[in-house]
Amino acid sequence: MSVPGKCIFCGGKGLTKEHLFPQWMRPLLQGYVEASELPSYAQLRTFGGLSVPGLPSANGWNNQGYIFNKRLRVVCRSCNNGWMSQQEQATKSLLTAMIEGRPAPLGQDEQFQLALWCALRAAIFERDDPKNAAISRYQYRYIYEHRTLPDGWKVFAASYSGLEWAARMFHLSGKVLNINDQSMPSAPNTHLTAIGMGKTICVVLGSTATNASFVTTRLSPTGLEQIWPFVQALEWPVAPEIGDEALGQIAYGTPYFM
Ligand SMILES: [Zn+2]
Repeated sequence: MSVPGKCIFCGGKGLTKEHLFPQWMRPLLQGYVEASELPSYAQLRTFGGLSVPGLPSANGWNNQGYIFNKRLRVVCRSCNNGWMSQQEQATKSLLTAMIEGRPAPLGQDEQFQLALWCALRAAIFERDDPKNAAISRYQYRYIYEHRTLPDGWKVFAASYSGLEWAARMFHLSGKVLNINDQSMPSAPNTHLTAIGMGKTICVVLGSTATNASFVTTRLSPTGLEQIWPFVQALEWPVAPEIGDEALGQIAYGTPYFM
């Protein structure tokens, strides 16, 4: 939960509009956007109740539209032009290679930069739908102060072979029972964001449930490489590639959720 009118990361004033997908990606992804008939970004209100695979019913969609037009006014000028811009620059050449499916070494530092970039996109996108947001104020602050991902978050990446997800972001949030007293939280406490960019798909997963690490482990998608927390060095592209059907199952929900 963030305070309206204040930066989600530092709490400062002077918000500026931030593109959900950076403009430098546009020439790399424009062709994919035009080829797809699906909205290129979307959010769902809750986990569950969806038929998988395939698209959720129309009333499940919340906000949706064309990804390169999407801007959110939740980050201040100082963050946007400062540390976030530096982080963007640090990731740009790697992301470009991955979008194009070119070979790239993914060591520990590359995986961290990529994971942080994806986490920032997911964190900004969540604020497009505050009622269903699952990232806590503490976690935004933690990202800002430590320039790393909050505890319990996981990020995954895979080479992607389809078209529908080649320029797309999809956010899902939901409630997971608190394990201590079996109570249902009043607001979503778990989020999953799929980010498709050309030949690459990334998934960001996080939770503030009392059993958060159990939850994110159970929700971890199969068939993708875990890039955060670091497991092992990788050479991009990775095998096997993931396709639209498998990705739909990951992105649109899982039978595990209530
Ligand atoms: Zn700020």
